[in-house]
Amino acid sequence: MSVVTRFAPSPTGYLHIGGLRTALFNYLYAKNQGGKFLLRIEDTDLQRNSQEATEAIIKAFEWCEMHHDGEVVYQSQRFPLYKEYIQRLLDEGKAYYCYMTKEELEALREEQRANKLPPRYDNRYRDFKGTPPEGVQPVVRIKAPLEGSIAFEDGVKGRIEISAKEIDDFIIARSDGTPTYNFVVAIDDALMGVTDVIRGDDHTTNTPKQIVVYEALGFKVPKFFHVPMILNPEGKKLSKRDGATDVMEYKQMGYLHEALLNFLVRLGWSSGDKEIFSMEEMISLFSPHNLNSSASCYNQSKLDWLNNHYIREMNNTKLKSMLVDFGCEVSLQGEKLEVLFEALKERNYTLVSFAKGVKEVLNAPSEYDEKMHSRLTEQGLENISKFVATLSDGLSVSEYEAKSKEFMSEHSLKPADFLQPLRLAILGKGGGIGMAECIFVLGVSEIRARVKNLNLL
Ligand code: GLU
Repeated sequence: MSVVTRFAPSPTGYLHIGGLRTALFNYLYAKNQGGKFLLRIEDTDLQRNSQEATEAIIKAFEWCEMHHDGEVVYQSQRFPLYKEYIQRLLDEGKAYYCYMTKEELEALREEQRANKLPPRYDNRYRDFKGTPPEGVQPVVRIKAPLEGSIAFEDGVKGRIEISAKEIDDFIIARSDGTPTYNFVVAIDDALMGVTDVIRGDDHTTNTPKQIVVYEALGFKVPKFFHVPMILNPEGKKLSKRDGATDVMEYKQMGYLHEALLNFLVRLGWSSGDKEIFSMEEMISLFSPHNLNSSASCYNQSKLDWLNNHYIREMNNTKLKSMLVDFGCEVSLQGEKLEVLFEALKERNYTLVSFAKGVKEVLNAPSEYDEKMHSRLTEQGLENISKFVATLSDGLSVSEYEAKSKEFMSEHSLKPADFLQPLRLAILGKGGGIGMAECIFVLGVSEIRARVKNLNLL
């Protein structure tokens, strides 16, 4: 049977990176097996779910180019179907109406608490044959096994076995008729033909209940893989403070989806000591069977390093078009574009800083680093003015490089005495790309104009 996986987010907010990692694992496994990857929006909680959140999730998928197979399934459109299955279980005697009132339930809980027993429904309506009490809108409860245990082989955590005593006859339909979470997840996974469920390990405790539903309805139980959380470097739950958590915020911060996905796949999974994975490599190497059973740790510098790798790999024409979103329109072409971009690729980890770097070179400085400026001497200014007077257009970067070295040795200048003032004139600050690259990209007349500006201050 071919593999069918799914990602099933609840649209209560944006898509966070933990969710994206779960989706990625499901996607990779389906693709690796030549199977299908489905998307189901779990929007039954009408109070907490929003259309914007659903759209944001779908947008994040588009950005990541992780395409799901078939139509998106919305649980909110499947209520009649869930009703049918509730009725079927009632008809088969596998579920029953429970007329316990809120007060009765509370009294039971109170008694259990007093006796130091775990809160558990006492099955009082399980075999009820009498006349239902009046004025109570019943819930529907499923008959969970009374004896033995519920067990499954988790692909990440190994065998998990829960005593039947720990699972009570849980509610599958509330008194207003709406179905509950564990019920609809099991129905949907079964009807959508899902063979493998890879999800966060916060769902591990839901799985036995879902297995009760599968078994009551005679559905085949899928394989489960419960993936440990992503923790921050202090070993705590990941929060806003540790970086972004909203996937689309990474886009705004100038990360490439290739880098983010590569980063996420390594949180909880590895293939030897390989760090860089193209999508094709991820697909061919990934298996949920070697997911790590301990939590993984978010590491911002690794994400930056990967992003820099993917920026370096990117073709410069594509990079140029991507910068437009970051307020940077570049008209340079050909070799000048190549020289500028290759130089900036060395130094920039995100598209935001890359765009800033481009602007710092292409726009004449509007202000100058005060510290550097205060150290600027008459002699320094004279040196750079002399130097730019010797320049002409049409040389290569290495020829400009050679020229500046020659100038320094002819005039017995230390690099700091010559390059610092030149840098101040051209970029307005220390740091940044090489001066020879700047001359090549900007052209001699622009360089002369910038030196003259500094002279006029
Ligand atoms: N809707 C659930 C969530 O967002 C996931 C359910 C599942 O994967 O089974 O946490």
